[in-house]
Amino acid sequence: MSFNIAIDGPAGAGKSTIAKRVSKELGFIYVDTGAMYRAMALYFLRSNISNEDEQAISRASENVEITIQYENGEQQVFLNGENVNSKIRTEEVGRLASRLATSTVVRDCLKEAQRSLGESGLVAEGRDMGTVVFPTARFKFFLDARPEVRGMRRFEELQAKGEPADLAQITEMIRQRDDMDRNRAVAPLKPAADAVIVDTSDLGIEGVL
Ligand code: C5P
Repeated sequence: MSFNIAIDGPAGAGKSTIAKRVSKELGFIYVDTGAMYRAMALYFLRSNISNEDEQAISRASENVEITIQYENGEQQVFLNGENVNSKIRTEEVGRLASRLATSTVVRDCLKEAQRSLGESGLVAEGRDMGTVVFPTARFKFFLDARPEVRGMRRFEELQAKGEPADLAQITEMIRQRDDMDRNRAVAPLKPAADAVIVDTSDLGIEGVL
């Protein structure tokens, strides 16, 4: 059995914060797979390719290389050789990422890239880490929280960065994205049968850890 840790859950459940802390404490590599879907979305936004047409998505995916590297222990995601880390954190990119994440071609392509990062020593977070990408992970966690709490966390993140934010709008966007992630045919967001489910709504970071 590989010694990986899989952390899944909806947006704003606290996955990144916890995955980063756990990886640091264990000396494991931290893998944020959502960043890879976001980088794919950025490619589509820039190239104006329709995200409605499966064939266009499939052709386009062949021209995209998404890789991960680490600088000072921080994950950096590269789109065809360009570091796009600072360009993928908007809700617009998140929404398109969620749309593209329904495509089997896109998922297969990113799954390969994710698995190539290693069989051991990873803390990987996303939506399908425990169910699809690392089904033999030693430990699996599914973090969840009430929608209003998740919306508030995203709102506070944006405010801290000095970006304009509307709480009701963010909460609604997250709700729609989660709906799409939970109800898609391929690799839907759901806990693996052997995952430990943690409701982080009323817990601080240390409590979740
Ligand atoms: O985690 P993050 O919000 O950055 O992910 C953006 C989107 O990428 C998610 O809403 C989801 O649709 C998709 N995703 C996925 N599978 C993963 C990680 C992310 O489908 N393992």
